[in-house]
Amino acid sequence: MEKIDVVIIGGGVVGCMTARFLSRYKLNILLIDKEADVGSSTSAANSAIVHAGYDPLPGTLKAEMNVKGNQMWDVLSGELGFEYDRSGDYVVAVGKEELPILDELLEQGRRNGVPGMHIIPADEMRAREPEINPAVSGALWAPTGGICDPFMATIAAAENAVENGVTVMLNTRFLDFRIENGRVTGVQTSRGFFACRWVVNSAGLYSDEVMHLAGVRPEFQITPRRGEYVVLDRASIQVNNVLFPVPTAKGKGILVTATTHGNTIVGPNSVCAAHKKDEEVTQEGLAEIWEGARKLFPHLQPSSTIAMFAGLRATGNAPSPNPQVSYGHDFVIEAAEKPRGFINLGGIESPGFTAAPAIAQRVVELMQDQGEKLEEKTGWNPIRAPRPHFRKLPLDEQKKLIHTDPRYGRVVCRCEMVTEGEIVAEIHAPIPALTYDAIKRRTWLGTGRCLGSFDMPRVVEILARETGLPPEQITKRGPGSEFLYRRTKELEVLHDQE
Ligand SMILES: Cc1cc2nc3c(=O)[nH]c(=O)nc-3n(C[C@H](O)[C@H](O)[C@H](O)COP(=O)(O)OP(=O)(O)OC[C@H]3O[C@@H](n4cnc5c(N)ncnc54)[C@H](O)[C@@H]3O)c2cc1C
Repeated sequence: MEKIDVVIIGGGVVGCMTARFLSRYKLNILLIDKEADVGSSTSAANSAIVHAGYDPLPGTLKAEMNVKGNQMWDVLSGELGFEYDRSGDYVVAVGKEELPILDELLEQGRRNGVPGMHIIPADEMRAREPEINPAVSGALWAPTGGICDPFMATIAAAENAVENGVTVMLNTRFLDFRIENGRVTGVQTSRGFFACRWVVNSAGLYSDEVMHLAGVRPEFQITPRRGEYVVLDRASIQVNNVLFPVPTAKGKGILVTATTHGNTIVGPNSVCAAHKKDEEVTQEGLAEIWEGARKLFPHLQPSSTIAMFAGLRATGNAPSPNPQVSYGHDFVIEAAEKPRGFINLGGIESPGFTAAPAIAQRVVELMQDQGEKLEEKTGWNPIRAPRPHFRKLPLDEQKKLIHTDPRYGRVVCRCEMVTEGEIVAEIHAPIPALTYDAIKRRTWLGTGRCLGSFDMPRVVEILARETGLPPEQITKRGPGSEFLYRRTKELEVLHDQE
């Protein structure tokens, strides 16, 4: 590999957006992630809402990055070809006593620079969302809120970065820095040492450990907070909007929201996680979610659940850079004074997804502030062409696709109508999807009522055929999650010989 200018540690939405924004310049960039796919940690387990920006306290980096990031998603989704819908969002007050909170949020949003918000009366809210709690007393309407496909947003940014010359190394763990004369000169990883001039810390939940190895902010600590969710069967309820309850001291509260995949999701709660891998969904968590959900939709039934998941917030303890704001956990977005060459991103919890493009843009500016002369590449291509999703195409286009490649005529996932052609296309994409979960995030297979019982054996077979690996080496999400243990027939032969 040629001499590396920038190593990005962590391929979540923040790292992938950073790689994509930096790929515009004449830089040799390496992005590493310890997992088998980009965007498989917190960026894959969240509410997928592009927040309007009325929630963070004014004067914080969270508020600034939220509002700036929000404005970038229309252009980004067009250039990178992923689903995004600026459908607006609502904070719903139930009972007269919750109405003053809407006024406070409206005022806070205005101070943060959120455009177009206003409060709508109860009957208008009922008209816009017919199954909402009849006791609704009014709602804050934020037209700049939206929903997006969080998986494809991250993957598309990484793919566009690769198409513009960035190298992505997966299953590659950052271990330590080399620092010489007060400057970062390289990183030690599980795949060897890479000399470089810059390192970007976008390691999400582990960003505290990474910065400590550079000797930066020894007092900064991430305390993960778990958020649990349920996914509802499409047939059980039709929710048309993004609906938050009024916030509490614990956070934004249990929301009920439409998604770009057509399901309704309910959650998240916010509980202190035992450790950085504590992604379990608990009985208590489910009870809390359903209580919250019924506040907005009293008729919702737990029996309509088809899946559950949990994500971990990378909650840090950095105070806001604005001394007038007393706030416990703001984002850290900085170029470290010592060592030089270290861009430090920490505590990127919600609204980190929304903020990711603005954070990536800020990384570019921080490098320039530190004296890096960034020269634009000729021929940088901001466009990433999306691959077809068979079930979303009109009949005549489906027929054309099958005519060009008969594998699009073979349905592998019946619930979500995902074809072999789509799976093969993802396996050979710029960021190859080489695990079951990687294919699931890109095609949405295995997410219907049967939760993959029908498609899983076929996907293992296709992955083995396309990669040339034995089926026993095909995994759900990387080494240690193999589906198959051994060939049963071979075992019988061995018994015969004994
Ligand atoms: C319950 C919940 C709901 C949320 N809802 C929203 C929402 O609706 N809207 C919104 O804007 N935000 C939301 N967020 C926040 C948002 O999801 C995060 O801010 C965002 O995904 C963080 O992205 P990231 O790239 O910083 O972290 P991650 O996605 O966690 O990526 C970090 C990457 O670093 C890698 N890594 C870590 N250590 C190492 C190492 N040593 N070597 C190599 N790689 C390493 C990890 O494998 C991981 O892939 C929510 C978060 C949660 C938990």
